[in-house]
Amino acid sequence: MMAARRASKSKVSRREKQSPTQKKSSARSEAPAARTARAERILAELHRLYPDADCALRHDSALHLLVATILSAQCTDDRVNKVTPALFERYRTAADLADARPAELEDLIRSTGFYRNKARNLIGAGKVIREKFDGKVPDTMEDLLEVPGVARKTANVILGTWYKKNVGVVVDTHIGRLAHRLGLTWRSRDDKDAVRIEQDLMEVFPQSEWTFLGHALIWHGRKVCSARKPACDQCSLSELCPSAFKFKPAASKKAALPTAKRRSR
Ligand code: SF4
Repeated sequence: MMAARRASKSKVSRREKQSPTQKKSSARSEAPAARTARAERILAELHRLYPDADCALRHDSALHLLVATILSAQCTDDRVNKVTPALFERYRTAADLADARPAELEDLIRSTGFYRNKARNLIGAGKVIREKFDGKVPDTMEDLLEVPGVARKTANVILGTWYKKNVGVVVDTHIGRLAHRLGLTWRSRDDKDAVRIEQDLMEVFPQSEWTFLGHALIWHGRKVCSARKPACDQCSLSELCPSAFKFKPAASKKAALPTAKRRSR
């Protein structure tokens, strides 16, 4: 009896943890050949919509792209672009960053949020690039992952945008969301499961397109398929999208509060 109750409780908690995007996803049931054919058409349309899709973070060197990408965590690209001109002027090389005074650097990047942690990573990145890579931002995934503040997403940005190497697909918040809505991921748990989303996108799109795909999906997420209000009626991907016209905004926290309170009594 106790075991049955425990099993039923765990089923409920698993159900509660499931994200709305996961529940709606039809990607798991789609045949691989049909998915690939649909992905080809999505890619063609993205090329038509965003022929010049590129990274929105302003930069003039691999190092400055790396700095801007680290700053873009939990922050908009517009905000980062406001901060970086003065920052790039002050810190031109890895050695400049390595020798930065934390308080001065923190002041310059404060408005991007999490500025203490970001400053620590930027100084650490400057040191590792100076000492281990001769002052040059490395151009392989393996080496980039040794740089403080750099995980796979940032490494993919540097490799794809600066070095023009299609090693993986950048998965940020826009791409995670769009991969789910467009049914382009079937193994991921939710739109934050970046590792599985990247694996699925790499499987369904040709390698030569990985960098473009990342940029184009980010642009589409910003311009049309926003988190809160996707404009399906203006979206030329709607015929290829299993989520078209199905989006229901999540209940606001305010509305959910009384129920939560009742449950806790
Ligand atoms: S049809 Fe709607 S949900 Fe699908 S990609 Fe377009 S805007 Fe997003």
